[in-house]
Amino acid sequence: MSVYNPINTAILTQLTAVVSPANISTAEAERQLRSHDMSQHAPCMSEVVVWPTTAQQAADVLCIANENRVPVTAWGAGSSLEGNPIPLFGGISLSMERMNHIIEVHANDFQVTVEAGLGYKDLNAKLARYGLFFAPDPGANASIGGMLANNAAGSRTVKYGATKDNVLAIEVALADGRLIQTGARSIKQASGYDLLHLFIGSEGTLGVITQATLKLMPVPTVMSSVVATFGTVATAVETVVAIRGSGLDVAALEFIGAKSAAILSREHGLDWGEYPTLLMEIHAAHAETAVLDIKLVREICEELGAIRIHTTTDAAERKQMWTARHHNFETKVRVFPDYKWQLMDIAVPISAYPELIAFISQTLDFYGLEGMMIGHAGDGNLHVEMPYKDEVTRQSTLQANDAIVDKAIALDGTSSGEHGVGIGKAKFMDREHGTAVAVMRELKQTLDPKGILNPGKIFPPKSEH
Ligand SMILES: Cc1cc2nc3c(=O)[nH]c(=O)nc-3n(C[C@H](O)[C@H](O)[C@H](O)COP(=O)(O)OP(=O)(O)OC[C@H]3O[C@@H](n4cnc5c(N)ncnc54)[C@H](O)[C@@H]3O)c2cc1C
Repeated sequence: MSVYNPINTAILTQLTAVVSPANISTAEAERQLRSHDMSQHAPCMSEVVVWPTTAQQAADVLCIANENRVPVTAWGAGSSLEGNPIPLFGGISLSMERMNHIIEVHANDFQVTVEAGLGYKDLNAKLARYGLFFAPDPGANASIGGMLANNAAGSRTVKYGATKDNVLAIEVALADGRLIQTGARSIKQASGYDLLHLFIGSEGTLGVITQATLKLMPVPTVMSSVVATFGTVATAVETVVAIRGSGLDVAALEFIGAKSAAILSREHGLDWGEYPTLLMEIHAAHAETAVLDIKLVREICEELGAIRIHTTTDAAERKQMWTARHHNFETKVRVFPDYKWQLMDIAVPISAYPELIAFISQTLDFYGLEGMMIGHAGDGNLHVEMPYKDEVTRQSTLQANDAIVDKAIALDGTSSGEHGVGIGKAKFMDREHGTAVAVMRELKQTLDPKGILNPGKIFPPKSEH
C-alpha cells in the first residue's frame, strides 16, 4: 500500500488557487508527456501537472503537497537518461517550464541570474550579444534546474568544469514550503555550511531549485578543432592520458570508438572512417597561443602513432564536426530504427581510462553484444551504447552494464559521471558510497521527513521509506 495520498478535489482546489487554472492540468496528454524521460525506464503518470510561474508559487505547491502527503517530482525538460524525472509514485509533476526567464545579466561580473526552467541553449543564445556563455553543455536543451539537479556535464567539462563548478547561488523551495537562498555572488565563499552544493546533484529529492546565479565565461577569440585517428583503441586512449599529462588546457577531448566514428562520419558527411578517433577543441585568447597548443597536440598524437591528424579553425567545418558529436545518439537511433538502447554513463580517474576501455571491449565480446563507445575522455567519462531488439539481448546488456559499472567503481571511479542516479543507478549506491549512504538518508529525512520529493530515486527501493 502506498504511503502517499491520492490527489482529491480538495487538493486540486488548493493547488488551483495557488497557480491559477491556466497553470494546472489533469489532461492525460500533459501527464503522458511527463511520464517518461529519454531512457528506457518504464513510464509512470503523475495525477496532475502544475506549472508554477513564481518561486513563491512553487513553495506554496510544496507546502500543500507536504501537508497532504502527496509526492512531487520536479520536471525540467525531461531529457534525463536514468529515469530521474519520472513520477514513480504519481502525485504532482511540478513542471518548471514556465519559469524560464533571465532575471539579470551581471555582465561586468561574468554572471547571470535565471529562473530554473530556462533552457541552457536558450540562455546561451541570449548571452551571445554580451560575448559571454554558460559553459556546461549536455547535448539536449536541458533546463538550468535539471542541469543543477543532475549535476550535468559535457564535452567542455575538461576545461570549464561541470554544472556544480559554474553555480554561485541558488534559491530553493523546501518540502515544507520554505524558500531559502544559499550561496552568494562573490566568487569566494567561506561562510557557513555549503548548502548550495548539497542541492546540486540531488535530483529534486531535497528541494526544488527556483532560481540560480551562474558563472559565465567570455566567448573565446580563437576556437580550433583537431581530429586524430588511431590504429588501435589502446594508442588513442594513451594519447588522451598524454595530452592531459602535458598540461595542455584543451576545451574538449572526446574519445569516439571506431563504430561510432564510422556512423557519425558517414551520416554527417565527414571523413573520419572506422577508426578509434579523438576529437579535440582548443580555446585561446590569441591566435599565437592556439597555434602553439595545436602544434603540441600534433606532436603528442604523432608520437603515439596517430594515422591521421586534421586541424581546422574554419567555423563551418568545426560546426559540422561538433554537430556530429552532439547528435551522436539521435544519429544512432535513426541508423538503427528497430532497436532500443541500454545507455551507460561511468567515469574513472584518467589514469584508469585505458584499463576501463579494455575491460569494456572484453565484456562486450563475452556477452556477444554490439556495443559502441563514446565519451568525454578528457575527464575520464565514458558512455557505452548497447542496442538490443529482443529480451534475451536486453538481459545480456543489463549484465554487461552491471559488470562495467562495478569495474568503474573498483577503479576508484563512479557509477555516474554526469547522468545522475535516477532509477537506473540506485542499485550501485551502497557499493559506491558504503556507509555514506546512511548519512545521505539522514539528510533526506531532515529536509523531507514525509518523503514527498521525487520518491523512488537515488536510494535503493528498500531504503526509501
Ligand atoms: C541526446 C542526449 C544527450 C545528452 N548528453 C548529456 C551530456 O553530454 N551530459 C550530461 O550531463 N547529460 C546529458 N544528457 C542528459 C540530460 O540532458 C541531463 O541529465 C540534464 O541535466 C537533464 O536536464 P532536464 O532539464 O531535462 O531535467 P529533467 O530530466 O526534467 O530532470 C532531471 C532531474 O532533476 C529534477 N529537476 C528538474 N528540475 C528541477 C528543479 N528546478 N529543481 C530541482 N530538481 C529538478 C527532476 O526531478 C529530475 O530528477 C543527454 C540527454 C540526451 C537526451
